[in-house]
Amino acid sequence: MPRKAEDECPRPAQISSLAMESLAPPIFPATVYRCEDPETAEGILSGNSEGYAYSRDGHPNADMLANKCRRLHGADHATMTNSGMSAMALAVLSHARAGDHLVVSRMLYGQSLNLFTNYVTQFGIRVSTVDTCDLDAVRSSLEDGTKMVVAETISNPSLRISDIAALAELAHARGAVLLVDNTFATPALCRPIEMDADFVLESVTKMINGHSDAMLGLLCGTSAVWDRVRPTQSVWGLSSSPFDCWLSYRGLSTMALRVEKACCNALAVASFLAERSEVIDVKYPGLESHPDHKLASEQLTGGFGTIVTFTLRGDRPAAERFIDAARETVPFCPSLGEVSTTLLHPQSTSHRQLDAAGLSALGLTGGSIRLSIGVESSRSIMSDLDAALAGL
Ligand SMILES: *Cc1c(COP(=O)(O)O)cnc(C)c1O
Repeated sequence: MPRKAEDECPRPAQISSLAMESLAPPIFPATVYRCEDPETAEGILSGNSEGYAYSRDGHPNADMLANKCRRLHGADHATMTNSGMSAMALAVLSHARAGDHLVVSRMLYGQSLNLFTNYVTQFGIRVSTVDTCDLDAVRSSLEDGTKMVVAETISNPSLRISDIAALAELAHARGAVLLVDNTFATPALCRPIEMDADFVLESVTKMINGHSDAMLGLLCGTSAVWDRVRPTQSVWGLSSSPFDCWLSYRGLSTMALRVEKACCNALAVASFLAERSEVIDVKYPGLESHPDHKLASEQLTGGFGTIVTFTLRGDRPAAERFIDAARETVPFCPSLGEVSTTLLHPQSTSHRQLDAAGLSALGLTGGSIRLSIGVESSRSIMSDLDAALAGL
């Protein structure tokens, strides 16, 4: 007996074509897709035609998010990876090979610096570290075989600013490309590709997602550097989770609002801390006392960032008392970019490999605290900090 059409279970594709008008984006957890015929499958898997076959090579939630990020950054291409670190690995694995030389900022995020100095070097790639705020030092560390220069828009936790346009010019003059880790700035404050960077990287885990519930990275680039990125991503398994892309797509829709509010709060908090007698130093690019205030004013638009680093009088014991007093209101979390204000103690977490001299070279002590400012009312953040300072 022939089955009636309505008894047949509709295929997901039939349902999704009807649901295409949903205002919120759908989520596609599928790892594999039906292929029309061998020719189409071949085209999709080799990246020559549009469509999906296997989610390690691409999936709709990654493409939706990558496209939005690509436009925000004014880049030719963008891809989502499973973390910020995997975006960094992808840039290196797709662009550098044995015999090449890289110049990287010595103030990079701790794990990035670890990646370059202890792991990338295992592949026969030479790595020099340099202060990327010192353009003369960068110029003299470049060699004919230098393939890539790596810097951060805003460094952690001393919040030094690297001059992206100047670094791009220096790198390009020696035939190298510039990769900028823009995590502390976000595309809301800085778009390095428009300043001639070739690659830009974001830890989407931080401000772009902004809700501390997804781990994801972004790599954007120009057409000139993109050739090997997608095949490298597939073969090293640096792809992304559909669910985390879906969550971060939602996070991204409020990023500009969150970053704007957090930057206003951060400036207010930095000014407040600068007045306190318990505090011996405040680092924030929005303060005129910051060594890169002028460059920050030119290079960042719409704010000076959401991170404030300050140092308490009384070294580590003072930091421990402060962290304890702030426990319920400003939690100690070894990350940044959440909707609420959190703090971190660099000496015991992100910079635990540094001795006192290393810390002091960054202008830090055991009494230094890094605040990641959230979107609460600035009054409530300051009253929480005030209460914790009162406990010292
Ligand atoms: C967190 C962070 C990374 C690494 O990102 P993950 O998503 O944690 O892998 C890289 N660079 C900077 C500046 C970061 O803050």
